[in-house]
Amino acid sequence: MSKLQTFLEFLYQKYQPLKFGNLASYIPQLAKANPEWLAISIVSTDGTVVEIGDFQENFTIQSISKVFLYGMALEDCGREALLGKVGVEPTGDPFDSVIRLDENSKHPDNPMVNAGAIATTSLIRGKETTDRLNRILEMFRRYMNRDVFVDVSVFMSEKATGHRNRALANLLLNFGIIDHNIEEILDLYFQQCSIVVNCHDLAMMAATLANRGIHPISKEQAVQPDYVRDILSVMYTCGMYNYAGEWAYKVGIPAKSGVSGGIIGVVPGKAGIAVFSPLIDPRGNSIRGVRIFEDLSQEFGFHLLDVSMGRCKFLDCL
Ligand code: GLN
Repeated sequence: MSKLQTFLEFLYQKYQPLKFGNLASYIPQLAKANPEWLAISIVSTDGTVVEIGDFQENFTIQSISKVFLYGMALEDCGREALLGKVGVEPTGDPFDSVIRLDENSKHPDNPMVNAGAIATTSLIRGKETTDRLNRILEMFRRYMNRDVFVDVSVFMSEKATGHRNRALANLLLNFGIIDHNIEEILDLYFQQCSIVVNCHDLAMMAATLANRGIHPISKEQAVQPDYVRDILSVMYTCGMYNYAGEWAYKVGIPAKSGVSGGIIGVVPGKAGIAVFSPLIDPRGNSIRGVRIFEDLSQEFGFHLLDVSMGRCKFLDCL
């Protein structure tokens, strides 16, 4: 057994008994998750997979999709045009906050919060809504190397209860960031939040970003390599919402969380990591997930700003 597999077993035993946090409960489907679920998957850029726990358990991707939509919006609009609509400043606010958008910036501060992701979704090209959804699903297929589908019951619930997102979309319309077809844009936003994934898929997607946009196994280019740097930059500064600063300090790699309990992390050039555990903290980040990433970073020297000799010990431990 590799050193990495042994360490994942140690982390699983250490954190499985931890029962802090709550299941997301704003829609009934998320509240049905099993609080016991815990999975860790790591995929190196050469396609080696090391994983443990419930890594085949399906759940909806939720906000982790924002990363990949941002990549697609960059491809569709280009860097400068997109920067004119959606900024790259961390907010320090909750992911669904309305206040700063209304009082200060008048445009989304970054694509990792809801306002920014609704705006990037509105920029995805396609003649009809179905063409745009199909392009999005096809993009996710390249990252996962398998067919992708939307959980329709989660989508319908998101649509029925997403009043804050509707408020954000109306403000974006008011500020001239999106155009009038708000319900179509929100449908696409809710559909991509409702894409079904498991922890293994998420690690593959993260490994694809670690590998300059090339899927480690299929070798398919999922996103243009020139944009990977932009995606990783906003993940690093904004991906963990109002925990992004502490995350950058303690873990030190680009990451993104979602309210269903997934977190992805990218070690550029080396690996993609995903943890899934549905008990979340008040900021919307998986509690076991954050701790496991802290331990992994410490053990294998992932912190990107740590230049100590022999820092990243990971590749020797596969
Ligand atoms: N569907 C959720 C929303 O838009 C996603 C939020 C999240 O994962 N942080 O509010």
